[in-house]
Amino acid sequence: MSDHTLFNFVHGELLENTSGQSFDVINPATNEVIYKTQVADEFIQQKAIESARQGFATWSAMTAVERSRVLLKAVELLRERNDELAKIEVLDTGKPIQEADCVDIETGADVIEYFAGLAPAQLGSQQPVGEDFFYTRKEPIGICAGIGAWNYPLQIACWKSGPALAAGNVLIFKPSEETPRGAVELAKVFIEAGVPPGVFNVVHGAGEVGQWLTTHPAIEKVSFTGEVGTGQKVMQSAASNLKEVTMELGGKSPLIVFEDAEITEAVSAAMLGNFYTQGEVCTNCTRVYVHKAVYEEFIQELKQRTENNIIVGDPLDPKVNLGALISKKHQKLVLDYIEMGKQQGATLLTGGHAVSPSSAPDGNFVAPTVFIDCRDDMTIVKEEIFGPVMCVLAFEDESDVIARANNTELGLAAGVFSQNIKRAHRVIHQLNAGICWINSYGNSPAEMPVGGYKRSGIGRENGVETLNSYTQTKSIYVGMSQIDSPF
Ligand code: NAD
Repeated sequence: MSDHTLFNFVHGELLENTSGQSFDVINPATNEVIYKTQVADEFIQQKAIESARQGFATWSAMTAVERSRVLLKAVELLRERNDELAKIEVLDTGKPIQEADCVDIETGADVIEYFAGLAPAQLGSQQPVGEDFFYTRKEPIGICAGIGAWNYPLQIACWKSGPALAAGNVLIFKPSEETPRGAVELAKVFIEAGVPPGVFNVVHGAGEVGQWLTTHPAIEKVSFTGEVGTGQKVMQSAASNLKEVTMELGGKSPLIVFEDAEITEAVSAAMLGNFYTQGEVCTNCTRVYVHKAVYEEFIQELKQRTENNIIVGDPLDPKVNLGALISKKHQKLVLDYIEMGKQQGATLLTGGHAVSPSSAPDGNFVAPTVFIDCRDDMTIVKEEIFGPVMCVLAFEDESDVIARANNTELGLAAGVFSQNIKRAHRVIHQLNAGICWINSYGNSPAEMPVGGYKRSGIGRENGVETLNSYTQTKSIYVGMSQIDSPF
């Protein structure tokens, strides 16, 4: 057990709390406590708000170009420290280093770079009204809060801080209590790059600290990433002073593979969309609908590649491509779903059990699991599992598969594989999902807005519209003619 303690990060420095209250952070690949983290007690909470107020006064008074320059310096530092930061993410999350090394920090830095570039180009408008006219200004909202999930800790912190800071706001960020270190590292990078103290504060803790953020009257907007149920609670508390909300929630997304698809490509997409980050990705295509004409060919290749090409083990080993699930509790939840799948009559094609690899015998590993011959009414087909569990379902008719794909409360993502371009677009236009891929799966460049339909979310992250969502429009009417008064 480590005696290292991680503090909250307030006003440019690590700040010790007064209560001494802390919690353990556990490495999912070993189940050892790797460090302790101090809870944001009342003292920290008060300091974080005071600091954010000061930070906002300084940051919002700078020009967009000045802010952009500082943020681009942070991007440079993030890229320089890629390897060190990737290792921190692996220890906290259990994901393979071969992913963290080229995705987590990279895609976080890309988003900050994108918004830093975009912010100085934001324009207000001007319109004449007779002799008078009005103009609009895009002003920052003020103190915003970000609340993150544990699957992409540093990336989520970047995706929320990038647009918020570029638009002139300040952010108080609460990372998941399971993975608190990445956000603190980002905070240090921002300070080193020249972001003024108070512009990005990090507070630690579980639901209570999240709830404090969502009810505090000084906070004007909450951007949340997590489960649907938690999102509902966040929205309810945010209603207390009518905060704006952005919700990035769960999914149970369909991938539809038509008979004219390139099967090897479709198998690659299905595997990426179920086994990347050991299945802990919100947009995963956990319902794979395969046309009957290519069903046998698809599952044969899927079985062969799943059994031969996946290496489960110590996530720090660069050869490993399937890591450990976030916690023992989560591993049990995923294994319970697998049992339910067996009991409800799905056929296990491969996997379906816990794994104890020799390189990391005590980690929370689950074998990559594929169920075939699934029915739409099975629990494993209806509920988000958030682990390496794929459900394959057969279909014959286009309109029928669209109806089945849409028959869910969730609507985060969807994919279609077909070489017939008219069909691919026709089908994707009818799917109720916010993030869609044709002959591809999972790519999420900074330029592309992402977010859910239905219960999967509200608002978007990335893309131009997200910068706008961190601003409020001020309209200013200017009288040039004489006032027409009846008094
Ligand atoms: P979670 O909802 O349990 O926790 C998310 C965050 O909310 C954590 O920081 C947690 O401490 C905090 N929290 C808990 N209770 C709270 C409350 N009452 N008020 C305020 N904050 C509270 O989610 P998780 O288990 O960390 O993450 C997994 C979920 O996140 C999955 O459902 C996944 O689909 C979703 N997710 C969505 C996206 C997306 O972009 N759509 C991305 C990643 C993860």
